[in-house]
Amino acid sequence: MTSDINSVCTYCGVGCDITAVVQNNKIQKIYAQSDGYVSRGKLCIKGRYGFDFVHSPNRIRSPRIKKSFIQKNFEAMPRELKARSHTLKHFDENWYEASYEFATSLVAWKLSEIKNSFGGDSFCATGGARTSCESGYILQKFTRTTMQSPHIDNCARVCHSPSLKGMRTTIGEGAATNPYDDIFKTEFMMVIGSNTTEAHPIVANRMIEAVRDKTSELAVVDARDIQLSKFATHKIVIPYEANLLILNMMAYVILSENLQNQEFIDANCKNFENYKNSILEDEYSNPEFLRKIIGYESLVDEIKEIARLYASKKSMIFWGLGITEHIDGSKAVMAITHLAMMTGNIGKSGAGLIS
Ligand code: SF4
Repeated sequence: MTSDINSVCTYCGVGCDITAVVQNNKIQKIYAQSDGYVSRGKLCIKGRYGFDFVHSPNRIRSPRIKKSFIQKNFEAMPRELKARSHTLKHFDENWYEASYEFATSLVAWKLSEIKNSFGGDSFCATGGARTSCESGYILQKFTRTTMQSPHIDNCARVCHSPSLKGMRTTIGEGAATNPYDDIFKTEFMMVIGSNTTEAHPIVANRMIEAVRDKTSELAVVDARDIQLSKFATHKIVIPYEANLLILNMMAYVILSENLQNQEFIDANCKNFENYKNSILEDEYSNPEFLRKIIGYESLVDEIKEIARLYASKKSMIFWGLGITEHIDGSKAVMAITHLAMMTGNIGKSGAGLIS
């Protein structure tokens, strides 16, 4: 007998809905429901076939405890744990194998001891990006409530903290502003620093569909000639480490040609004049600068064209680690949000920012 278990794919941040067909406690296959909100009935190769690790014989199936830990802590252990330590099984010269019951009791005792001796502040927890929302919630609850520590983090700090910082600083919140289906409502998409077909294929599917249906144009801006470029209506291959430069050049074009949405700016933005002057007075923000760089002269007109289209249409910008994992990642994200704010391409359906 089989049962269907609904869950969420945790391979990437797209978060596709998945259904696992399980028989005798083994996953037989994974598919997406045809009415799946994120997946729309399709999964990429990772979500659909990447579950063999679940039943791999190489998986560690029971807790292991270092022998040196037991030796070092045995005297201090409570009597009850000492009595149960005979359940430990030799695994190799470094490790014991333990029951979950013993392992969790031991960890709980040690954490209590650390908390009582040094305070909750002495404890920190880091979650992984491939855990589910529910696991992440429980980890933060355990850290804040049980351990009374404020130190909870996750590995997205490494890859996407520039998005968080850049967006929080400029628009107050570090999160995507629109659902994926807004791709079908937008008129112009700019993808910068994201190899979307490889990294987030289910989002790329939507982009390609929108371009094929001619509901949206697509500009791909990247240091590589990525696969998504084949579907782009505009593509530019930019010099390495030039994200911020190109984004500021787009701002320059918009401001120098008065394409900004002044009504939106007056209602929602602060210090616009300072920002405008800093861009217009910066010689490197003028796209004409690229005429001096051999091999990149043609970018001048292409950047101008993309900036004009972005400003004049209902537009969205998508970015990935090709923006954030650079030394100027936070500043490039701020440059992106500035483009959205100066053109009013934020806060409405079909116009916004997705990282
Ligand atoms: S795009 Fe692929 S890896 Fe990402 S959530 Fe969907 S199925 Fe999983």
